[in-house]
Amino acid sequence: MCGMQFLVTAGPTREAIDPVRFISNRSSGKMGYALATAALEAGHEVTLISGPVCIAAPEGVEMVPVTTADEMADAVQTRMDTGCDVLVMCAAVADFKAREVRTQKIKKRDGLTHIELVPTRDILASMTLPHDRRVIIAGFAAESESLAENAEKKLREKQCDLICANDITRMDTGFDADENEVTIFFRDGSRRHLGRAMKSKLAREIIKICIDIAEKR
Ligand code: C5P
Repeated sequence: MCGMQFLVTAGPTREAIDPVRFISNRSSGKMGYALATAALEAGHEVTLISGPVCIAAPEGVEMVPVTTADEMADAVQTRMDTGCDVLVMCAAVADFKAREVRTQKIKKRDGLTHIELVPTRDILASMTLPHDRRVIIAGFAAESESLAENAEKKLREKQCDLICANDITRMDTGFDADENEVTIFFRDGSRRHLGRAMKSKLAREIIKICIDIAEKR
């Protein structure tokens, strides 16, 4: 089936502390951009909602640049409402944000002993899905321990059809690397391991898996 509507999120989000400082994470966006490229090359329409990264947008995607988790959540919901066949939620959304964002730069000489943090909105868990629930949702999980247990929990709690989990304790794969290695956990309890490979190759396999599920639904 060609011409499906893909929505891919990528990169980190940034949560401001003051006008110059923010909370973020090490996501480079490489995996998400590779997924967007793979979906495009498979003949589909792709919208890429991206946090701040240093890589160029794949030619042919509709780019939606965002900064914060709230902006990403709003952009995802808007596109879910207007029609999406496959959502690939690869972004490393910041888990916490400052309770209050200072409007002036915090002065070093004034000192800073703590920043009060509150959790960001969980985009996948809080998203409203269309009534027919035809959309296929792929989530990602970067884990440093209990990979399978955590991935299976996220699969249930985040409305996902599949979770692509990777072990971030490995230095040669995952964050900012060109290669990755993932185990995919499915709703029926099955799992599939995709061995270490370039992110572009893994992206093609993950997109193919999403398309196969979408075609059977
Ligand atoms: O909970 P954790 O961040 O490990 O879950 C990972 C999955 O959940 C990813 O697909 C990520 O994009 C998504 N997520 C989200 N909203 C958040 C945090 C993560 O949708 N606030």
